[in-house]
Amino acid sequence: MSTAANRLCLPGSVISPGVGIGFASVVEPLSFPPTPSTIAAEDVEREIDRLHRAQELVREHLEEHVRGVHAPATEDWSQIFAAHVLVLDDRPFFESIEHRIRDHRLPADRAVEEAFAAAAARLAASEDCYMRSRAEDLRDVCASVRRALAYGGAAFERHTATGRPTVLVVSDLRPSVALRARHEDIAAVVTDSTVQVSHAAILLRAAGIPTLGRIRVDESEIRDGTPLLVDAAAGELIIHPTEGDVTAARKRLAEQRPIHADATQPPLDVELPNGESVALFANLDHPVQGPLCLAYRLRGVGLFRTEFLVDGLGSLPDEEMQYRTIRELADALGGRPLVVRTFDFGADKEPVGFHGCLGPNPALGLRGIRRHLQRSPEELRTQLRAILRVSADADVSILLPMVTTVDDVRAVRGILREETERLLSRGVRVSGTVKLGAMLEVPSAALEAAELLEVADFLSVGTNDLVQYLTAADRDNPAVLDYQTPAKSGLYRLLEFVMAAARAAGRQHDLSVCGELASDPAGARELVRLGFRSLSVTPQAAATVRAALRAPTALRRLAETRKAVS
Ligand code: PEP
Ligand code: MG
Repeated sequence: MSTAANRLCLPGSVISPGVGIGFASVVEPLSFPPTPSTIAAEDVEREIDRLHRAQELVREHLEEHVRGVHAPATEDWSQIFAAHVLVLDDRPFFESIEHRIRDHRLPADRAVEEAFAAAAARLAASEDCYMRSRAEDLRDVCASVRRALAYGGAAFERHTATGRPTVLVVSDLRPSVALRARHEDIAAVVTDSTVQVSHAAILLRAAGIPTLGRIRVDESEIRDGTPLLVDAAAGELIIHPTEGDVTAARKRLAEQRPIHADATQPPLDVELPNGESVALFANLDHPVQGPLCLAYRLRGVGLFRTEFLVDGLGSLPDEEMQYRTIRELADALGGRPLVVRTFDFGADKEPVGFHGCLGPNPALGLRGIRRHLQRSPEELRTQLRAILRVSADADVSILLPMVTTVDDVRAVRGILREETERLLSRGVRVSGTVKLGAMLEVPSAALEAAELLEVADFLSVGTNDLVQYLTAADRDNPAVLDYQTPAKSGLYRLLEFVMAAARAAGRQHDLSVCGELASDPAGARELVRLGFRSLSVTPQAAATVRAALRAPTALRRLAETRKAVS
């Protein structure tokens, strides 16, 4: 593809793991033709008509996606775009736009811009962190309406395929960019955005499109047609990659491709030179992802996040519904173990309409198990009963988020015992040996690892939150992202301590990592060097993690460590 002379390698942050090779297609920031600042009284009705037509065009375009016309839509995709349709159907909101056109004599374009900006500002000032992050969706719907106003139906025409692999390069990562990436079979996305929980990021991960963030597009000499290698596994963008880069990446691409979900294919652990092996499990956010665990030959599910169960109105399903959902996933795993995490509501996980975590600083407030124990014990009991019922026929364990002290685990143990007895007394079958684990996400819990192991059956390190709390740097705030570098955060020193505590108790096999660090090749190597032998990863990252752990550097470092220890 090029000579080594113009090769440039830029570090980025992984938004969606994987490797993609192609030619850049630079998405220019949105621009619109100039509009007059006011309109004449006789043009008011015509402008309102334009507004309605634009609204209709965007709705048709979105509904098409909600129905999954272009390609089979996952539930994530449908729900996110259904939420965009809800904005378009908000009558009072659109009446307020008409009011701006009629009474302030604004052209429709300006009226739309002003109304959406005001609504986004209200969301941005919300106490509810989920609502704050949804300002992104409003901006995206606004951009679509403005495009429809400016260009009519042509605004949504599909880009013609170039016939060669394409990497989208965008400064503003919006859900509609993810939509375009999926429809055009884009090889990868490069952006200067960093926010991991934006809807666009969620969509790109769900679609398995490798995406690398924190790349300053304007500074990186990328133009349309520039050859790019996006290594959203190692966290690198190579501009003008060499033949050698491309050959190595192609090999990894082949490894990355999933085989069919086949329960008869045994899990594929990683063999280390000393004969030990590293077990890989899957992190899942939704039961529909169950087949990924089999397709990527993972041992089971090490972290099943359950927050998706809250619907768009903020209500939780009853015990029966929760039971059926978990059961469905357990059945899809064909006997492989499943670790179900209880609801971790609060801070970055606050579904629309669900006000579980109010307070001046939600990340430090009643989040996860704290909220359950103090505010919603009945909700916890319901969830525990649902999991216990699944345990009658499946290998299922319970994992508690945001554990801070041994008392948190003791309290849940008591509740678990009561709920087990309650179910048994009603003649409901449950396993009497369901394991109860604690996440290590709070630094004080990590420092109490030895004590926690006395009350918990296993511990799972949540590096995403652990690094956030160690560095007092919000995990979703790009401004403080640099503080979160694991090597500089003290994380490895703390994990060394945790591993030593587990070894002293002969319990190192009850220790695993489920934070994103385990899905990062360099991070996984470091965790294995520290002694971790069980990692729970984003399924799509499994092949790159396996390759990284088998790479000679990892083996050499491991051997060196062993030599130094012995
Ligand atoms: C973590 O904090 O590392 C973790 C796995 O939990 P979540 O990302 O869901 O907060
Ligand atoms: Mg967490």
